[in-house]
This record gives sequence, structure tokens and C-alpha cells, in this order.
Amino acid sequence: MIRKEQLGNVKKIVVKVGSAVLTGESGIDLDIIEQLVSDIAALRVRGFQVVFVSSGAISSGKHRMGIEGKLKTLPQKQAAAAVGQGRLMRVYSNAFGKHGLYVGQILLTMSDITDRKRFLNIRNTLMQLLDWGVVPVINENDTVAVEEIKFGDNDNLAAMVANIVEAHLVINLTSENGLYDENPNSSKKAKLIPLVTEITEDIENVAAEGGTDVGTGGMKSKVLAAKKVIAFGTPYVIAPGRRPKVLQEIMDGREVGTLFLPSADHLNSRKYWIAFSLRSRGRLTVDDGAKTAIVQDGKSLLPSGITHVEGDFATGDPVSCVDCNGVVIAKGIANYGTQEMLKIMGLKSSQIEQALGYKDYDEAIHRDNLAVTVQQNSRARGEMQG
Ligand code: GLU
Repeated sequence: MIRKEQLGNVKKIVVKVGSAVLTGESGIDLDIIEQLVSDIAALRVRGFQVVFVSSGAISSGKHRMGIEGKLKTLPQKQAAAAVGQGRLMRVYSNAFGKHGLYVGQILLTMSDITDRKRFLNIRNTLMQLLDWGVVPVINENDTVAVEEIKFGDNDNLAAMVANIVEAHLVINLTSENGLYDENPNSSKKAKLIPLVTEITEDIENVAAEGGTDVGTGGMKSKVLAAKKVIAFGTPYVIAPGRRPKVLQEIMDGREVGTLFLPSADHLNSRKYWIAFSLRSRGRLTVDDGAKTAIVQDGKSLLPSGITHVEGDFATGDPVSCVDCNGVVIAKGIANYGTQEMLKIMGLKSSQIEQALGYKDYDEAIHRDNLAVTVQQNSRARGEMQG
């Protein structure tokens, strides 16, 4: 059975739960929290390590302030998060405490992880918490996060956390039963998809139609997050968060929700970080020969394969590589800045010194710093940022 096979060696799990599961008419739903926390505690007893990514700060704060309807401004959302996050942690601390477990709060913004040093520091902290047997409870640091430094939604945050802790599985608990072949809210014929072996355009299109009003994600962002996680070689499950013992059922190998299988040719942790945590500052268009060398053979990008340079980047900045159709195939750290790249594009590495007056590197992007984001059979894999 595929589920048992896929989940048999899992030890470290990222569990993400959305606001639509956690909050009801009158704010945080304490019964659901108790239910979920006992489920996590049961996994802990069975020897699993759990890193918990929880939404619910904004919606909880909003209820506390007696505000009805949607919050309109950014300061309102940030202030609501300030009120709600504290409440959320108190509730978790009490609930986990009943099972003899401590919680540790970690609030992150995207800029915390684009810096490699900070990324590694967060990893060390999380590893220490897990070593102590503490359950890390992670959320976006909504009170300080503005658009440029936001993860966007907690589905994406959980996908990044999966890399930080090198998780073996991500479970996304939602208000839906999983991914359907049609929007279940508008079609009675809609059927749950139990297994996704590859995220095709069809799958993305189906996901684009579903969604809830609470939280920021919707099914589309869950599938985009799944794309990233499976690119890291980690399976991903979308499952119904209000179903009792749902986590235990999943770990028993029962067919609950939708399982996305991991990609065969997956990225290592550092390349995943390059691909999904860094914003590109430019684009290099590469010819077909360079594309094959990068995608099929895992080679570096040489200046000779570059046909076009866009953007304003310096040595060490992240840049995207696109093929002649404009499809993003990789992201990497540039060895040369825009002006240098413009002078050396199309040239052999032996001509770099003549063109620039110096040569720091043979490669435009070294393969160790180049994350390929299409699969070898050239199907689209990860959606790139920027
Ligand atoms: N960080 C937000 C909160 O705690 C939720 C974002 C999301 O649900 O995607 O309210």
C-alpha cells in the first residue's frame, strides 16, 4: 500500500493548521484545539517529532476586539495579530500542558530566512526545541511583516519550515477534506483525489477554484506549497482538520485526504533555500545547449550559454534562468553582476579575462549554487518567486 510505503520512515512532521479550522463564530474554537492537541500528543507518544505551524492570530484578535467582517487595513491586521497571537499561545500552552508538553513560540518573516546565517540559526533553535521535547509553534510575525517581507500565507510558511527542519512529511490541515477534482462547494459531482503523483496544470487549475473566506490561503496556495515541499523530496498531505484523530489516521497509513508524492529528482536543503527563499534580482535567458547542460546534466551555467541579461544584480545576488520561451528553469547565485554579465554573455570562459580585464570565475553560476526547478522531463515543478 502506497501510503504505508511513503510514510513508513517518517519521523519529523510539520503540521500546519489554518484559521478556518481553528476559529468559529465566537473566535478560537477551544474544542477543536483540544482535539488537535491530543492528536499531536498521541503522535509524540508514538515517537514522532512534530513542528506545529498555526494560523489564527489575526482572526482570534479580531474576535477579541469585537470586530465583525473583514479587517480592512494593514495596521488593523497587525494590531489584531498582536492581540490574537498571545491568546493563541496561551490556549496552546494550556492544551499541551494537559499532556505534559511544553510549547515554544517562533514568529518568522521571510527576511529572517533569506539571510542564510539567520536561516541556520532558526534551524539550530528548532532542533534544540525538538531535542528538549518541546513542541515548536510557528506563525508568521504578522505584527511586523509588510508585503515585501511576507511569506504571503501560512501554507508557504509551512513549506519553508519543512526545509528549515528537514521534515519527512508535511500535513496541511484544512477546512476541506482534501483536494477535489472539481470545486466541492459548487459541484455535487466533485470527487476527492486521494493521490497526486505529479502536480500537473489540471491539478493547479482545480485548486484555483476552491477557497475559504477565513485565512489567506485557499486550495491554490496549498497546492503551490505542495509543489515546493515535494520538490524537496518530502511527501505532502492535505487533510480535514476537524476530523478527530486525523493525524493518527494519516500516520496509520489510512486513506484520509490527499497525498502528494515527493519528486524523484529532488533538491537538497541549500538548493531548496536558493529556489524558494530568495527573491530573484534578475533574469538570464539561456540557449538550448545550456538548458540541457543545466537541467539534464546538472552542470554549471557558463557565460557562453547566456543570450540575454535583465535586471540590476550584483555578484552574489540570486537570479532566475529562463529558456528561450521565457520558462523559468532554475534559480542560482550569480558570480558576476549585471554589467559584467552583459560583457561576457555568449563568450567562452577563456575569453572572460579579455572582456573584463580580470576573471574571478569560469562559470556565470556554479552548479553548487544553481537550483533546477523544472523536472528533467522538463515538466514545470516549482513556481518561482520574482
Ligand atoms: N498568520 C496569519 C494568522 O495567524 C494567518 C495567515 C494564513 O492563514 O495563511 O492569523
